[in-house]
Amino acid sequence: MYFNTGDNTTDMNRETLFGFGKFLQEYDVLVSFKIDEDDRKPLILERNSFVCRFCGKQKPEVTFKKRAHALPEFIGNGSLFTHCECDDCNGWFGRELEVHFASFMHLNHTMFGVRGKKGYPKFKTTDGTEIVNDGGMIDWQGIPMEQLNHDEKTRTLTATQKVPSFIPANVFKALVKMALTIMPAAQLLTFADTMSWLNAPLNDPRFTTSKLWLAYGAIGSSDRFPHIGAALLKRKKLTDLELVPMIFRLNYGNFQFDVPVPMFHQGKMIPIKQIPYLPNLFDLRDGYGTTHLRLIDFSFTAPVKDHSMSFELVDLDGTGTVETIAVN
Ligand SMILES: [Zn+2]
Repeated sequence: MYFNTGDNTTDMNRETLFGFGKFLQEYDVLVSFKIDEDDRKPLILERNSFVCRFCGKQKPEVTFKKRAHALPEFIGNGSLFTHCECDDCNGWFGRELEVHFASFMHLNHTMFGVRGKKGYPKFKTTDGTEIVNDGGMIDWQGIPMEQLNHDEKTRTLTATQKVPSFIPANVFKALVKMALTIMPAAQLLTFADTMSWLNAPLNDPRFTTSKLWLAYGAIGSSDRFPHIGAALLKRKKLTDLELVPMIFRLNYGNFQFDVPVPMFHQGKMIPIKQIPYLPNLFDLRDGYGTTHLRLIDFSFTAPVKDHSMSFELVDLDGTGTVETIAVN
């Protein structure tokens, strides 16, 4: 499919604007944050509340000494914090949930140079050397030939790397945790069971979960989201709970996640039947299809080990420049 960049008269853009309007008829933007990766001026949610919204405890039963990041530091957040997450919960989320999200995104962060806590991630080549990507696109010419596969017919270059093991259900939970962190306190009661599910071990018999679908997308390598964006979108009328009452949108670097915040009824998760798509700024500029979207089910609770992820670099115009990127 072909899109006219910057041409607002194409049907594709009319379709995008129509989709955008339709989405906003059904959903309200509850909260929205834009975080500049270089911004070091802190914004603190629930400032000085010091009541943990995850375990319900407060001082002096628990401490609030650590700076709790509302969104993980490894996606580039250095300025959005919260005072409603105790040190115990903070440590548990980091060890049990966020580490899985970081592993799942490992190759992506390497290829696109998303700066984390320990600086920029490295691409480990089979001969033991490391390629550092300090922002922007990785220098793929430094990757040894045996880790690259070039398909001349489709003009696709694929780079493959083993990623650290991760548990898909915990990747999903890590995203839900971010949603519950930025959620206004007034909405939390509706998600009390979701909170209990988040804190419970995987396969806890008190909860029956359905498939954990989310929409995951990447935009082309020549663009990058100008900010880390995190928003919660709430359905205006709750006539049918299967129509996703709350969506968490996260974007950073070249990546976008649309995560339905799961709801439970008597311990049973209400199944996710569809995920409405809210166009992003690149869809609005260039039309639908700018973001390569995929629906993924993250409900598996067993660790995915020795998983190789590959990264496709597609040379669309045949001039040798990398135009589009898809992650598998
Ligand atoms: Zn806590």
